[in-house]
Amino acid sequence: MSEYNAKKIKGTSGEWDIVIGLEVHAQVTTNLKLFSNGAADFRKEANQKLDLLDIGLPGTLPVINSMAVDQAIKTGLALNATINKKSIFDRKNYFYPDLPLGYQISQFKDPIVSEGYINIDISEDKTKTIKIERLHLEQDAGKSLHDQSPDKTFIDYNRAGVALMEIVSYPDLSDWVEAGDYLTKLRSILRFANTCDGNMEEGSLRCDANVSVRKPKESLGIRCEIKNLNSIKNLMKAIEYEANRQVKSLESGNKIVQETRLFDTNSGKTKTMRSKEEAHDYRYFPDPDLLPLEISQEEIGKIKSLIPELPDELKNKFIETYKLSNYDASVLTAEKQTSDYFNETINSDPELKNYAKIVVNWITSELFSLLNKNNQDLNNS
Ligand code: ADP
Ligand code: MG
Repeated sequence: MSEYNAKKIKGTSGEWDIVIGLEVHAQVTTNLKLFSNGAADFRKEANQKLDLLDIGLPGTLPVINSMAVDQAIKTGLALNATINKKSIFDRKNYFYPDLPLGYQISQFKDPIVSEGYINIDISEDKTKTIKIERLHLEQDAGKSLHDQSPDKTFIDYNRAGVALMEIVSYPDLSDWVEAGDYLTKLRSILRFANTCDGNMEEGSLRCDANVSVRKPKESLGIRCEIKNLNSIKNLMKAIEYEANRQVKSLESGNKIVQETRLFDTNSGKTKTMRSKEEAHDYRYFPDPDLLPLEISQEEIGKIKSLIPELPDELKNKFIETYKLSNYDASVLTAEKQTSDYFNETINSDPELKNYAKIVVNWITSELFSLLNKNNQDLNNS
């Protein structure tokens, strides 16, 4: 078996390591917003049926959506993490037209979930563990629409107050392929657990990538954060470009300054959005309208018992039951609809169990290419 090596950047001065940490915003699957009875479905017509709290009207008070809390706990358990029995909601203060309250309710020092991990496949027989620092609950903001009029900006508050889970990894990822694999695996876990629909195109899953480079064995370099990557392909492209840019810059004698950057999908380049000097001081403090969130061991146990089979368990089951390769089992369990389809097919006739490999090949080559050709997937075929 060949030795696995993460990709490095070859500079004029030698090889450079890449260091990546991801911050992922996942919209919680629940009908209501995080602290109000407003509907969480942002697809409806702009600004219809908004709850008074979410447009910042005085006299309104937040009440936690217990379903969103349960979903965060379920996700935490699916990510092998610690559920904190006491967590705090803080106000993150800043002004922006799409944030009518003047602050976002988030969790800062005491998140609901901490210290988990995800395993990603790095070769046929090796996995790598990517540690997760935290998962916290927070409100989404509204959306400014700059493309509806030549001289006006409109605001749609449908998203304001929608429940998000922010999932932050440690800087354990070593190249853009690992970063893509991590996000794919995280999305698959969220979908199996049914806590986020994982739709990146519609923005229910969004990713910020923190990237730095360093000479092997040196301490961590200065990072840049690339905001709002809306597909796995763009995440990978942006990291590859950014790591190369940093190496070129350092080798030309420049320093990397910590900053927020945006990825331009047309040019394939990242560009400065704001520097660290322009960074906000959010003046976090505990929201006086909300009590600390307390969770009992009993509640955690109850939610644990509701977690369905997750991709890793299912993958191992497929390998054992049908003697499939790690690769085949991974492909089958990457998407819930694929593993469901495989299960249905293989159970449709007792004879088929002996031909599992042929069933897999048929699904992953013939069926997938047919669906692809017709722009369909197993959901809408
Ligand atoms: P912030 O609030 O400024 O975004 P965090 O401490 O929450 O800072 O870190 C954000 C992300 O940056 C995490 O995913 C973390 O793993 C990653 N990160 C931290 N240091 C580095 C580094 N030197 N290179 C790459 N990523 C890093
Ligand atoms: Mg950040």
